[in-house]
Amino acid sequence: MGEFDLIARYFSRPTARAALGGGDDCALLEAGPGMQLAVSTDMLVEGRHFLSTVDPAALGHKALAVNLSDLAACGAAPMAFTLALALPRVDEAWLAPFSRGLLALADAHGCELVGGDTTRGPLTISITVFGEVPRGAALLRSGARSGDEIYVSGTLGDARLALEVFRGTLSLPAEIFAQARARMERPTPRVALGQALRGIATAAIDVSDGLAGDLGHVLKASGVGARISAQTAVTLLAGAAQPAWQAGSFSQQQRLAYVMSGGDDYELAFTAPASLRDAVLKAAQQAHTPVTRIGCVETEPGLRLFDSAGQLLAQGFASFDHFS
Ligand code: ADP
Ligand code: MG
Repeated sequence: MGEFDLIARYFSRPTARAALGGGDDCALLEAGPGMQLAVSTDMLVEGRHFLSTVDPAALGHKALAVNLSDLAACGAAPMAFTLALALPRVDEAWLAPFSRGLLALADAHGCELVGGDTTRGPLTISITVFGEVPRGAALLRSGARSGDEIYVSGTLGDARLALEVFRGTLSLPAEIFAQARARMERPTPRVALGQALRGIATAAIDVSDGLAGDLGHVLKASGVGARISAQTAVTLLAGAAQPAWQAGSFSQQQRLAYVMSGGDDYELAFTAPASLRDAVLKAAQQAHTPVTRIGCVETEPGLRLFDSAGQLLAQGFASFDHFS
C-alpha cells in the first residue's frame, strides 16, 4: 500500500462543515460571523508519550483528545483538525484501529479531519485542531483576579497511578487499575464545560502536566497567587476513594502528590468570581461534568496549600517538563 492509498483508505473523509477538506493543497475553513479561530497543536511521540504496546484505538482517541482539551480550555467549539503522521511502516493491523479510535472521537465532537501529512519515520502523531469562539470570549490564562475561586473538573492523578503501575513502582487492585488505565489511555476532553464557562470563568487551563504546574501558569500569567485546601484536593484522586483500595495503604501526602503533580489528566482548572458560584455549578450541570472548588486566588504570588487546621504545608510539587 502506498502513501496515497493509505491516506485514502484510513484518513479521507467527506466534510460537511469545512468549505474544503483533504485532497487539495490546503483545506478551507470558515469561522462564523463574529467568531475567532482557536488553533492548537499537540504531538505524541512513541516512547515519550505512549508505550509501543498501547491499544492503537485508544492511541487514536488520545491523540485527538489532548488537542480537543486545549480547545476546551479556551472555551472554543471544535471545527476541524489536521493529522501529521510519521509511521515506521504500513501496518494495517495498527492503522485500522488507530483511525477508528481517532475518527470516533472526531465524530462525537463534530470535528472534521481536513488534511494532514504522512511520512515514514519513528511513530509520531501530530494533530492541529481548529475551533471557533466568539470574538473576545476565549478563556485565557491571564484573567484570574484576587478573590476569584479556583475549580477543577473531574478527577486528578489517576492517569499517573496507572503510569506508576506500568513502571512497576506501584501495585493496584485490578479494578482500580482498570479505571486508572482508562483515564490514562482514553482521557475525556472537557469540551462542553469549556464552552459553558464562557462569560463565567476569568481564566482556564487544561491540566496536562500536573495541577501545581498548570495552575502555576495561570497564576503567573495573571500576576496573582493562590491558596488551595489540601483536604479538598486529595479527594480529587478517584482511585483512592474506591472501597476496593483502602486509603490506609496510601498516605494522604502521597495522594496529594498524585493530585498536584500527576499529569496527563486533561481536566480543566479555572477561576471564577465568588459572585458567580451558582453560574459555575449551573455550567457544570449543563455540561454533565462535575467540578470541585479547591481554593481561591490571592494577590501574593505563588501557590500555597493549607491543611484543614489552616496550617501552611511546606510540601512542594514538581511539574512535568520534557527537558528537565
Ligand atoms: P502535499 O504534497 O501538498 O504535502 P500530500 O501529498 O502530502 O500533499 O497530501 C495529499 C493530500 O492528503 C493533502 O490534501 C493532505 O492534506 C492529505 N493528507 C495527507 N496525509 C494525511 C493524513 N495523515 N490525514 C489526513 N489527510 C492527509
Ligand atoms: Mg505532504
